[in-house]
Amino acid sequence: MISRESKARKFAGGRLVIASHNLGKVGEINDLLSPYGVEVVSAGDLGLDEPEETGQTFAENAEIKARAATQTGLPALADDSGLAVEALDGAPGVLSARWAGPDKDFRFAMQKVEEALADQPNRDAHFACALALCWPDGHCDLFEGTVFGRLVWPPRGERGFGYDPMFVPLGYDITFGEMDPSNKHQISHRADAFRKLVDACFAAPSGDGASN
Ligand code: IMP
Repeated sequence: MISRESKARKFAGGRLVIASHNLGKVGEINDLLSPYGVEVVSAGDLGLDEPEETGQTFAENAEIKARAATQTGLPALADDSGLAVEALDGAPGVLSARWAGPDKDFRFAMQKVEEALADQPNRDAHFACALALCWPDGHCDLFEGTVFGRLVWPPRGERGFGYDPMFVPLGYDITFGEMDPSNKHQISHRADAFRKLVDACFAAPSGDGASN
C-alpha cells in the first residue's frame, strides 16, 4: 500500500535502513534524522545488493530501492533524484546519473543537455527528489520535493555536484554551482522532500511537545 503524506505512518524510533551505498548520502541522512531517535544503518553495512532502478519516475525508483531493503525486516528509506528539463519532456529525468556515462562525467552530461536543447528558447528545468519510507509489511509513504529554475550556458561555479553549474534556481541569478552550499541546502529539492518526510513521519505532532 502506498500513501502520499496525509496518511503517513509515524516512525516510533529504532533502526532504519538507508537504502543507499553512498556513504556521503547515508551520513547526511543520519545527521538529519538523529534528533528523532533514529538509528541509521546503511544497505552497504547490511550487505544488501543494489536493485536495478527500472522505474519511469523518481518516486518509482525510490520505492524500488526502499522496498528491496525491507527484506532485512526493518523499515527502509530511499531517495531518487535528478534534473528534469521542460523542453526535453523531462529528460534526463531518471537517467540523470546515466547521462554522465561510466566515468560519471557531469561536464559531459551538461554538454549533452545543452546540445539537446540546441536553440530552444525555453530553458526551464527543475530538480526533483523523491523519498520512499517503506515497512516490512509493505506499507510505503512517498514524499516529493522540487526546486524550479532555468538552465544557463556555459556552466558556472565549482561548488555542488552533478548539473549544479548550469542550474539557476528561481529568484536567483547565480547557479547552484556558485551558491554557498548552506543556501542550496535550504532551498533544494532534497530539503523540500526531507521537510515533508520529517513533518509527516518523524517530528512530534504540534502541541505534543518534544519530550518522551
Ligand atoms: P541519485 O538520486 O543519487 O541517483 O542521483 C541522480 C543524479 O541526479 C545525480 O547523479 C546528479 O546527476 C543528479 N542530481 C540529483 N540531485 C542533484 C543536485 O542537487 N544537483 C545536481 N545534480 C543533481
